[in-house]
Amino acid sequence: MRDYQGYLIDLDGTLFRGTELIEGALEFMEWLNKQGIPYLYLTNNSTRTPEQVAEKLRKFGFPATAAQVYTSAMAAAQYVKEELKVSSAFVIGEEGLLQAFQDQGIELTAERPAAVVSGLDRSFTYDKMKTACLSIRAGAAFIGTNADRALPTEAGLFPGSGSLAMAIGYATGIEPTFIGKPEPIIMRYALQALGVPPERVLMVGDNLETDILAGARSGIDTLLVYTGITTREMAQNSSVRATFEVTDLREWIKT
Ligand SMILES: [Mg+2]
Repeated sequence: MRDYQGYLIDLDGTLFRGTELIEGALEFMEWLNKQGIPYLYLTNNSTRTPEQVAEKLRKFGFPATAAQVYTSAMAAAQYVKEELKVSSAFVIGEEGLLQAFQDQGIELTAERPAAVVSGLDRSFTYDKMKTACLSIRAGAAFIGTNADRALPTEAGLFPGSGSLAMAIGYATGIEPTFIGKPEPIIMRYALQALGVPPERVLMVGDNLETDILAGARSGIDTLLVYTGITTREMAQNSSVRATFEVTDLREWIKT
């Protein structure tokens, strides 16, 4: 095992599965904490605020503060503020996304917004979609928090954030700029927040197409853990390669 000076850690499928704790995850986080290695929890889920994510993690027994959480919602707001340099947006999303934009001082409006931002919104309506489409056709920049097609739940695969953004994309003929994993945008901001150079960081996750591809595109080594979405068979048939792979995170501590 190489000595990494910082870790970026995915949540769902890596540390927990819905409401279920994943085997070896607590030991792994305790091991990281004991060594004093800095880490960030890095999630594409834009619905929760950092404090809400940290609270969920603490309920499982993980060491977590809001400052250790970085979400696609935070990255989208940072991108709109720092890269697009605009001060108003029409945001389709839940509390985590709305708060991230408020935290950046961006005005939330349906009247001539400079940007349209589409995240996961379980109260998505035709009316919201209509406002988004009209704004984009009037020249607003179009941002999607993440391209995830589906949202895994106990009841099956629900429509993911990317499916909502792509509906707006289809209606307008304009593709959204996606921010979350595997895009380099969220990785750049996460590295800034972590304060460790990419070659010293390990990205840990269960999804080859998001977590591992994100690392590969951003010059970050990756650890694929087979406790979530990607199976060994899927990994063998993919052109994306993780630097390391383990059955569960306990195995990483022992290597
Ligand atoms: Mg995951």
